[in-house]
Amino acid sequence: MIITSCTGFLYRIESVDFGDVMMDCYEIYALKYAGPFTSSGAFLMWLKDWEKVEERNYYIWCIKGARHTVVVDTGVSPDVAAEKNLAGYVSPADVLSRIGVKAQEVKHVVLTHIHWDHASGVTLFPGATVYVQEEEYDFWLKDPISQRPALRHLSHPPANAHLASLAKTSRLALLRGDQEILPGVECLLARGHTIALQAVAVKTAAGTAILGSDCAHFFRNYREDWPSALIFDLRAWMKSYEKLRARVSSPDLLFPGHDPLMSRNYPAVADGVTRLV
Ligand SMILES: [Zn+2]
Repeated sequence: MIITSCTGFLYRIESVDFGDVMMDCYEIYALKYAGPFTSSGAFLMWLKDWEKVEERNYYIWCIKGARHTVVVDTGVSPDVAAEKNLAGYVSPADVLSRIGVKAQEVKHVVLTHIHWDHASGVTLFPGATVYVQEEEYDFWLKDPISQRPALRHLSHPPANAHLASLAKTSRLALLRGDQEILPGVECLLARGHTIALQAVAVKTAAGTAILGSDCAHFFRNYREDWPSALIFDLRAWMKSYEKLRARVSSPDLLFPGHDPLMSRNYPAVADGVTRLV
């Protein structure tokens, strides 16, 4: 039998132990579930580009391997989308179905952080274990500071209540720092945009790719070493950027959270879905 490895080499093997041989190598898809939205460029590039108008999309991501499927972020559930009157909204569950993934059956969901556009669709994944940094979880669910006006609107209290209901069940995995959650899928603490955002490093045929989520909103943030306006801790962001850059196999495999280029510059595999790697 001949199989293709993660690096593209062909192997001829006598007997097949798929547990070892499938190489835990993944493809990564970006799934647009809302947008485009427009804002001043200063929202996306810290304190500059005030006069520019920039578009951004809302995404979730799907990491697909031979043995495991991982959904990164949940997007927004239909009721939250209606409440926020989200333009261009399609349920993340419907977008996932276009690449053959049933939200009801997904077993692994990584929440990069607990802002509403990334976490308030968690109810769409009733069978999944949710992986989130413990510090992020504790901040949004337990720290009164998170309920001050400037922060409260960034999260979604009913979704947080749902996350609270998962406490002490097998459906919640609270991570402390970097942790491999499945072979070839590692969560990386990347503070800055929030108190404990986590990126996801993924083994792919092109090397290690990283879904940085809102560690950067646009590719430009990484390229120009310039954060977006939504930064909880700027010094931490600088360090996180260094960390992700050191871990990724090449700069073009470091993906942002909201850049429309993820929809435009990669092969489309279904409506609203592109293959990043
Ligand atoms: Zn976001």
